[in-house]
Amino acid sequence: MLESPVKNQRFLTAGECQYICCYILVISSVLINLHRPISQGFIVKRVQIVKKASGWYAIICIQSDVKIPSPKPQGKYLGIDLGVSKFIATSQGELIARPKFFISLQSKLKWLQRRLSKKQKGSKNRLKAIQKVARLHEHIDNSRKNFHDQIAHHLCDQAQVIFGEELNLKAMSREMLCKHTLDAGFGGFLEILKHVAKDRNVYFEKVDANFTSQICPNCGVVTGKKDLSQRVHNCSNCGFVTDRDVAAAMVVEQRGLAALGLGVKLPVEEDVIGDISKKVSRASRRNRKAL
Ligand SMILES: [Zn+2]
Repeated sequence: MLESPVKNQRFLTAGECQYICCYILVISSVLINLHRPISQGFIVKRVQIVKKASGWYAIICIQSDVKIPSPKPQGKYLGIDLGVSKFIATSQGELIARPKFFISLQSKLKWLQRRLSKKQKGSKNRLKAIQKVARLHEHIDNSRKNFHDQIAHHLCDQAQVIFGEELNLKAMSREMLCKHTLDAGFGGFLEILKHVAKDRNVYFEKVDANFTSQICPNCGVVTGKKDLSQRVHNCSNCGFVTDRDVAAAMVVEQRGLAALGLGVKLPVEEDVIGDISKKVSRASRRNRKAL
């Protein structure tokens, strides 16, 4: 049993059993479903109680003295491009479709909300209808997170160094396809990818996202702005033909390598977006200094 530094607050260690009792302040004892045992050598630092539509959750923060070294940029490289048409395109030519989490269930949500609006205020049926709407929202959120987690692990299986784009998420959420952008959850995915990469000892870095779809990854010539309907990159200078998102992912990979001093900077880069080395994030600079 652990003694918390806070008076009258104590937690039970998990052990190997599936169920434990959790004593938290004046809430008294409650049974919780422990998803994974707390490893030996870790101490419980904080318990956060969260209420969701499907029930109550206890998020337990644990701490240990183990130091995890930062991943080093060595091994196989991979550039990724996030998009509305395809969720991810990689510099290796893989295209992953975007599941429509919210949009596919939008009609069901509308139907539930319409039913809710007809219920009498203060009635039990209204509470049940509220619960159904909340559960559907939670289901959409869980499906999205699960997909993001699977994709992050899939990418980490393929490479030891991954480069992504530094997206302006606020600006994207105000654009014409904002509903699709928000449904894809690019910000949440990049955050999950960052954590999964660290856990898997994969180096992850973001690079400048500007003009990635307007540069030929083969010869470096600016091919100009493409309409969203134009899905193929066809360079008039060198004749290089590939999917436009794959071409963008290849440019992202080249920018990442150039920023780490491991690749050749495209000749056009400085004219179009300026010196990349000045645009590398502070985190990247700290990592390079540490190496
Ligand atoms: Zn070209």
